Formats: sequence, C-alpha cells, structure tokens
Amino acid sequence: MVESNGVRTGRSWKRPVIGMTGITGIVFALSGLAAAQERADIIIRNGLIVTAEGRMEADVRIRGETIAEIGRDLAPSAGEREIDARGMLLLPGAVDTHTHLNPEMPDPPRPQGNQDDYVSGSAAAFAGGATTISNFISVQPDEDVSAYAARVIGGIEKSAMADFFIHVTVGNDPARFTREMLDELASRGFVSTGEDFLARESFDLNALAWLRVFKASGPAGVLSMLHAEDYSIMAEAQERLMAEGRGSIHNFGQSAPVVAEVVAVQRAVAIAEATGSPIYILHMSSGRAQRVAEEAMARGLPVYVETRPMYLHLTQEVYQRPDAGLYLGGPPLREKWDQDILWEGIAKGTIHTIGTDHTGYSKEAKLDPKQTIADKRMGFSNLQEYLPMLFSEGVLKERITLEQFVAVTSTNAAKLFGMYPRKGTIEVGSDADIVIWDPTMKKTIRDEDQFSNVHYSTYAGWEVTGFPRTTIRRGEVVYDNGQVIAQPGSGKFIPGAPFQRPHLRPTSNRE
Ligand SMILES: [Zn+2]
Repeated sequence: MVESNGVRTGRSWKRPVIGMTGITGIVFALSGLAAAQERADIIIRNGLIVTAEGRMEADVRIRGETIAEIGRDLAPSAGEREIDARGMLLLPGAVDTHTHLNPEMPDPPRPQGNQDDYVSGSAAAFAGGATTISNFISVQPDEDVSAYAARVIGGIEKSAMADFFIHVTVGNDPARFTREMLDELASRGFVSTGEDFLARESFDLNALAWLRVFKASGPAGVLSMLHAEDYSIMAEAQERLMAEGRGSIHNFGQSAPVVAEVVAVQRAVAIAEATGSPIYILHMSSGRAQRVAEEAMARGLPVYVETRPMYLHLTQEVYQRPDAGLYLGGPPLREKWDQDILWEGIAKGTIHTIGTDHTGYSKEAKLDPKQTIADKRMGFSNLQEYLPMLFSEGVLKERITLEQFVAVTSTNAAKLFGMYPRKGTIEVGSDADIVIWDPTMKKTIRDEDQFSNVHYSTYAGWEVTGFPRTTIRRGEVVYDNGQVIAQPGSGKFIPGAPFQRPHLRPTSNRE
C-alpha cells in the first residue's frame, strides 16, 4: 500500500526515519529534496571510469538524469555537488536480467511466497550496485497488450525505486503469440519473452506451435528466453527417484541431470538455426551445455547465454549439507569443472549476462523439511551481493578483467534488451546510472545487513572485497555508505527497443 506522499507503509515496513543511520537503514528522500537534487549538477571527480571498452581517469558531470560531460578537470558549476571518488571505480549501474519481485505484496504477505517487492528489491539492488532490474510477468488470458502494459507498468511504477524492464511470461498458449501480438508487445517496449519453456510438458505437446512463435519473434524484434532443461528427462528421473524413496532434496542434482540441460541447449540452438530468430538461454549451469552454445556462436548463430551467480561460486556438494534447501534452483549446481568453463565463458565473451534469479523466499520456506525433489522452492536471495561476489571472486582473483565484469553485468544486457546506450555504459547522453565502487572495501556477508525482506543471503559468511560506496540512479544518489536514500515510485519502466543483433565485443584480450 502506498500513501499519497509515496512513502510505503505496511506490515513489513517501518515508517522510515529521515536521517536514520546504520548499515541497513533505508532513508526515503523527501520529494522536495529529491527535486532539488535533480536540479543541481553533480560532479564526480578523480574516479576511474570503467566501461566494457576500457578505462579512463576523468571527471563526470551529471545534469538532471543524464551524463552531461566527461573530461579531465571539469570546470565547477554553480550550486554543484562535488563527489570525490579518488581511489574508486566508476561503473555503469548493473542490469539484472533475471529478477523475481512481487509487483504487489499480498496483504498480509504469504509466508511461503516471494517476500520481496519493488521497495525491498530495489534497496537490495542499489546496495549491491544494480540500478535496473527485471521481472517475468504473464499476460492474463483475457488481457490485451494495452491492458497488460497498464497493469504491469502502472503497478510497478507505484513502488519501484530501481528502473525496471519486463520479460513477458508466455504461459501455455502459443496460439496467443501471433506476429501481431508480438509486434504490439515490441512497440510498447516488451522485447523479450521467457521462462521455463523447455522444462515444461506443455512445450513438447505444442512444439510446432512454439516453433512458429519463435520464428515470428525474431522479425518482431522479440528475444525468446528459454529455460533449457528437457522436460521428459527430468520427469523420468524424478519419478524414478520418488518411486525408489530417494525423493529427498539432497538428490536434487540427480533429479535434473546434466544431460537434460545439454539436450535442451542443443534444441535451443536448433531453434535459432531453423528459424533465424535469436535465442537467449537462461541460467546456464554446465560446461557441457555451454560448449554446445559456444559451438553455435562460432557458427554465427544468434545464441546468447545468461548464467546465475550461484554456479560461479558453489558446486553440487552443498546439496549434501543440512541447509541444502537454500541452494535449490533449476538447473542444479554442478562440478568444479563446470564452474571453470563458466568463468572462462565470461572471460571469452561467450557468457553474455548474469541474472540473479533473486526470489524472496524466507529462509524458513527455503529450509522447509517437507520439501522433496518433486515439490520444492526454487530461487535465491542474492540481489544485494551478486556484484561484490563477482568482483571479489572474479576480478580480484584475476579470472576476469574489469571490462569483462562491466560487459557481463551491464553492457551486454543493455544491448540485448534494447536499452543501450541509455543503460549499460558511462557516456555523454546516457542515463546517469553510476556506481562509485570501492575496490578495497572488505566485509563479511551477513544476514542482518540485507535490505531484502527475507534478511538472509545465499552468501552469508563469505569474506568479500569490493563494494559500492555510492550508487546513483538517473542522477539521483540512491545509496550511500550503507544507507538507501530513495523514493518509492521513483523507478521507471525502461522500454526496450526491438531486438537487433548487438555487437557484443569479444573480450578475450586480458589486460
Ligand atoms: Zn527465474
């Protein structure tokens, strides 16, 4: 529920105290202050700007919502706010390609449901360095595109603080996704469809109709995002394990074997080849399937790959632990060998994006002992830490360069979803989404520091170096030194331009 002054109230939100301090403080900016802040220029001095293309020491002038000037020793302007970023990196705000937040929290919230909405989710995003987040939302059976746009954008814009874009969840009815419908979606900025296509029985039952949808999607400028796991292989494995009395979630890995992903990625590649339409593979987990996608890319097919942070940091061993439930999400975690191939993919530019798949299930719900491989809660609480984790484990351990970090977390996503160069870079004319990143800040991840409503992190206990000091979204400081300072309702829908094959710079040259 949102009051007229835009300050969110409700069971899970204390009325914010302006000036509150403490690491998990959320301070809602007063509208007057926000407006004043928009008028004055901000100059960020002495930082090292990093884009997917390279790095440069320069000052950045922000005017209103956009970047007005980049250069050395910029002249001061009247009333400007100066931020000294000596020793800091200036990174383009990250774009999370795969976020699950509740557009409207049911009142009271359902204990087993997704507890994160666009206030808590945006706060977690800002604290971690993401300024644009996404969601997957279905078109209702009786809904036309106008009604869908009004419901989805209108609903989320009431509470969002981060900017957002939307993937259209397609459900079970391919007949609805005619070329006309796809054109209409694209014209309103909905340029991607998703989620669990190949992992669903209804896909196989309608394979021809879906192939026609994919064929029409490319020319309509819509990117088809596929969950690439084969339904039949997983269903058989699951049935067998359940029948053998081995339905425990400790056997989650066996219930969704690597071969189910391999064959689904082969099929996804075949769809791209047969239709010429671009295909985006959601949450790639295995080295074998990644090799299939890389072979397709080498042949020039429009195949794009997202991975999930978890696969880069954890292996299937965690499923033997008592807290295995925390790490459930399909496809399952794999082996160290797979992990190495995914890191390599980021370095080579064959893994294009990172999507958190953040879903705000409570820790109790994730650890619910009644779960089985047939009935489980999938998703992670990791929106706040995924960038620090990737930086600490990737950049600082020299698995990837800073430029590769920016490409995989921001630039490529902005290009694939039609938001570049508005998002995804630090350039004159781009939205001023800038993260002032302290590459030496060291912290242990703790549940109590989480802005997410579920107050736990998938990475609790990890020692991590490199965090945002300040996050700026469209010219407004929205996070600073542990505090989120933003107005619910200040986040905007960012319409995507119809999909065009982007130039994704290969990033194999290590600096
Ligand atoms: Zn998902």
